[in-house]
Amino acid sequence: MMQLSCHGAAKQVTGSCHLLRTDSASVLVDCGLFQGGRELAEENAAEFGFDPAGVDVLLLTHAHLDHCGRIPLLVKRGFKGRIVCTAATRELARLVLADAAGLQEEEARRAQRHGRRHGESEQPLYTLADAFHAMDYFDGSVEYGLRLEVAPGVHATFVDAGHILGSASILLELEQPGASRTVFFSGDIGNPGRPLLRDPQRPPLHPDYVVMETTYGDRDHRDWNASYEELVQAVSDTLARGGNVIVPTFALERAQELLYVLARAIEQHRLPRHLPVFLDSPMAISATEIFLRYPACLRPDFAARLRGADPLRLPGLRMSRETSESMAINTIRGGAVIMAGSGMCSGGRVRHHLRHNLDNQSNSVVFVGFAAQGTLARRIIDGARKVRLFDEEVEVRARIHTINGFSAHAGRSELLAWLKACGPTRRVFLVHGDLDTGMRVFAQHLEQQGIAHQIPGDGEPILLR
Ligand code: ZN
Repeated sequence: MMQLSCHGAAKQVTGSCHLLRTDSASVLVDCGLFQGGRELAEENAAEFGFDPAGVDVLLLTHAHLDHCGRIPLLVKRGFKGRIVCTAATRELARLVLADAAGLQEEEARRAQRHGRRHGESEQPLYTLADAFHAMDYFDGSVEYGLRLEVAPGVHATFVDAGHILGSASILLELEQPGASRTVFFSGDIGNPGRPLLRDPQRPPLHPDYVVMETTYGDRDHRDWNASYEELVQAVSDTLARGGNVIVPTFALERAQELLYVLARAIEQHRLPRHLPVFLDSPMAISATEIFLRYPACLRPDFAARLRGADPLRLPGLRMSRETSESMAINTIRGGAVIMAGSGMCSGGRVRHHLRHNLDNQSNSVVFVGFAAQGTLARRIIDGARKVRLFDEEVEVRARIHTINGFSAHAGRSELLAWLKACGPTRRVFLVHGDLDTGMRVFAQHLEQQGIAHQIPGDGEPILLR
């Protein structure tokens, strides 16, 4: 028996968690958090749909919260196996899980003090102690391209997915008496041709089955250079108006890419040399340090530049780890670029900066990443005239830019190219996408090309014959 079931990212983007069962082993790929609005709190706290104690090993594709965010819960509920990933993923996951635990503890304290609001819980999903306990199970010794036995009869090969630092797609070879099958999990597929990370790699074998993400299955991104131009223009226009630029920033990789973009624009004399740039995110600051420690994961030409002066260190860059430093930024009326988390504005320091800057038409807010339905970022992008921040109505008068060419995700054409490069398969399982947009539209493309595919339901057992 070989069976696949998806316990997250099934007909939706977040919560990636896929279980493969054979007669001899039970292997989990990712164990992510459902994100996007409070209504998902219950989904996160619900049963996994399998017994965590019965899972032999967890293979982690990358450190984004929607891929690793339920790991402390998995451990709390009895998982005792290894969590296998690359070294960079292990380091980044530590940051991400500690941050998530901190946010959940904070939310629980608020709910205890002020009473529960819709979907809030007085108990955190897990605590900081739980997150650190989970780190004991991490084995970050994986190198790209090596074939490892991860459970009886199961070999895994991690290949560079080019999505964030340390990210991988994972090829699993399942061997049983009388049958062997290969399943390739895409993880999140990177956007090729970006300046810092390498392009996504092909699997070493033609897989029988592919489980792939479809985040942007319905559209192509703008070209990187066009997005670069758009960002530089948005920043310089805002500076000319005397305003601030707020960039809600994903801490992992996007923040580093934005620093690179600003550094390049300064080098080209397109932006003032001493432009004040605030990286107001302890997680992004730590992630940047980790980033610079793994030149082997980066594009060779960029890695070569790391041997000289730090190419991300702008002359006017200020990094604020402390809350007091972050609050001081609120007094700046104009002329600065402020990067703060979270990227979807569902929490974190960026909400304070939005409260201070959103109602002024001199300012701009530049969104550079994916915004799930139900998040504040989504509402602003969709044109909300007023939003609620800290129990206050704030008018949206700042200019809103959405620049999607910096996406860490492949667009539709790249997804198709990636799949073609895997070779012919028995069936492709589509996960990690909005059902009505990314997933269905991508499914139609596969239909037209005669590629067998399926959109798994949540927890639906699928026999791999
Ligand atoms: Zn991701």
